[in-house]
Amino acid sequence: MKLKFWGARGSVPAPGPETNRYGGNTSCVQLTLDDGTDIVLDAGTGIRNLGLTMQHDCTLQILLTHLHLDHIQGLMFFEPAFDPKTELNIWGPEAPEASLEDRIARYISSPLTPIEVRELPCELSFKDSPTTEWEIGSARVQAAAVTHRGPTLGYRITEGDLSVCYLPDHEPALGASLVDLPEEWISGFELAQGADVLIHDCQYSDEEYASHIGWGHSRLTDTLTFAHRAGVKRLVLFHHDPLHSDDFLDAFMGAAVEGWTALGGAPDRVELAVERRCIELSAATA
Ligand SMILES: [Zn+2]
Ligand SMILES: [Zn+2]
Repeated sequence: MKLKFWGARGSVPAPGPETNRYGGNTSCVQLTLDDGTDIVLDAGTGIRNLGLTMQHDCTLQILLTHLHLDHIQGLMFFEPAFDPKTELNIWGPEAPEASLEDRIARYISSPLTPIEVRELPCELSFKDSPTTEWEIGSARVQAAAVTHRGPTLGYRITEGDLSVCYLPDHEPALGASLVDLPEEWISGFELAQGADVLIHDCQYSDEEYASHIGWGHSRLTDTLTFAHRAGVKRLVLFHHDPLHSDDFLDAFMGAAVEGWTALGGAPDRVELAVERRCIELSAATA
């Protein structure tokens, strides 16, 4: 299994000289299975660059956690979607008010975009992510509702003995302390438990979080506590705030290592997501 980060930013793209190193594109992670299947986690603006590297005459799977703009904005600029040879399956959370396709069509429609969803040339299908485990290529996929604003899923993808958990927008500590909350009460816990890699929301420093409680995102201490309690082997901090410059994130990384090692973690098992960086996963490295 191989991971590649195409967008690690949250909320809104943040291009510019201050964010060059960590990247300014919003949420998009490519997960390539050992059988060659590509699973794309979210379709933020990072998916545009991913699309430029992809073959079109194949079946692609996009798993959307939710439909906030920073997770779907790149769909309109995903080159394979404009090729009739591409079969594109888009999975996402169910919502009572409208189908996944109709909710995405609120973005891909006039006057926001020059075309309608039905006009995309690829062979396109929309599917509600099942509540029971299902298969994509050689992987088993699990989805579960997690604490964020609006219907939001987290995912766990398992291939062989290796598993990756993706929780980009998540506030498990909302109204509670993660230190002593029973496991079964912690949002996303089952998805993350024992994962080889956990990609998790860490939008705020502890100081910033005080004025952002209930916004749907995590502070550093909560992300570290969540990952520690879930017993993950490697933690990747994700969904960087658009206001966080490269210099800020360098310092944030220092605080993350300090907090992680204080919990008993190894310093090389926590990192910040960096756009275009890859993580190769094999039984040996895990
Ligand atoms: Zn987001
Ligand atoms: Zn969100």
